[in-house]
Amino acid sequence: MSGGWGKSTAAAELPSVAEALALVHARVAALPPESIALAAALGLVLGEDVQADIDAPPFAKSLVDGYAVRSRDVADSGQVLRVGESIAAGQVPSRALAAGEAAVIMTGAAVPDQADAIVMHERTRVVAGGIEINDAKLKPGQNILPRGREAHAGDVVLARGCVLTPARLGVAASFGRTELRAIRRPKVAIAPTGDELVPPTQIPGPGQIRDSSSTTLAALAAQAGAVAETLGIVADDPGALRAAFAKGLESDLLVISGGVSAGKHDLVPETLEALGVACVFHKVRIKPGKPIWFGVKPRTDGRTPALVFGLPGNPVGSLVGFLVFVRAAIDGLLGRGRDRGRPLPVRLARDFAHKGDRPTYHPATLQEDALEPVAAAVDWAGSADLSRAAAADGFLLFEAGDRLYKAGEIVGFLPMR
Ligand code: AMP
Ligand code: MG
Repeated sequence: MSGGWGKSTAAAELPSVAEALALVHARVAALPPESIALAAALGLVLGEDVQADIDAPPFAKSLVDGYAVRSRDVADSGQVLRVGESIAAGQVPSRALAAGEAAVIMTGAAVPDQADAIVMHERTRVVAGGIEINDAKLKPGQNILPRGREAHAGDVVLARGCVLTPARLGVAASFGRTELRAIRRPKVAIAPTGDELVPPTQIPGPGQIRDSSSTTLAALAAQAGAVAETLGIVADDPGALRAAFAKGLESDLLVISGGVSAGKHDLVPETLEALGVACVFHKVRIKPGKPIWFGVKPRTDGRTPALVFGLPGNPVGSLVGFLVFVRAAIDGLLGRGRDRGRPLPVRLARDFAHKGDRPTYHPATLQEDALEPVAAAVDWAGSADLSRAAAADGFLLFEAGDRLYKAGEIVGFLPMR
């Protein structure tokens, strides 16, 4: 299916972003769940129903500091009750409350039998022979969280498929769990290719540039919830590419930068296909990032297929390709919904003249203090200009076709976080 698209370069014949994303979604399946410690599970998708092992709360507890009373003893304000025992959090009452009696009780302490309301300290006054209650609105049940009000033993308190937020991890802990079955983080291998690349530790010689993309792509992978492994700079040499890609194919997802365009040294697509990775698409109607390559290699060991993205070498092209396509694939592997890459509506701060036959992602800053989000395009030299793009908060999305976008118009914005 990709043959026709892959060989054509006329923008109108390339798959749109939406079509290419649909091809990605169709080939990505969630990884199987495994047992994961709570501390490592933030943001993962739960792979089991979690049941309460005990009632929560396990006893009727006071929600305030005050006095436990029998509401029928306090029919009128100004009633005086004698003060019995004092119950702190962690203690249990020694006996039921007697008629005409109040017990001092702290927040979180177990409510004595026969007591059916807690009167806050602020509504009481110490008088001769006990305390006087001044709580005109006193009602049975007030300031008490009954046993099992949150959940009863056996209730499902976290449903399979939910994303594990900090609060949900706390719920798991409150029902005695230290581990949960959750979809694990995908392993993402990163392979920067190019004879001109040197590591950041070196001063580039004539014609050389530093490899920045390994760093950006590894950080993007980590930000998306994956575990990134950088394979090191790979030369534009068939043997070197083959060896690096074979190693990268052991991961759930291989992200390559460079070598996917039409140049003589762009050997990535043919090397991948020789390794058994079937091309799904090559080139998408998008700017920057048009040469993007996506393929899949089935495995024989029952694991989900290896997914491979070849991103263009230009740093902003690979950044946009990652945010739009690779993150969607990581979301799919994580079993998450598909909403993280969807552009948000924002207003344009200034007029912007867009030219081009492809939908264009243009770096822009977001004014967060505005009443509604307002974005301003940054002055940018194109897909090789990482420094200016890095000053932005994300990308404004302009549709194909030359047009003057007016200040105040609503435009899509893809956040870069
Ligand atoms: P390519 O897609 O291989 O033709 O590369 C396009 C441009 O991106 C060239 O100017 C490369 O030098 C540059 N480039 C490729 N890989 C990287 C990288 N890892 N870091 C920074 N720039 C790169
Ligand atoms: Mg190259």
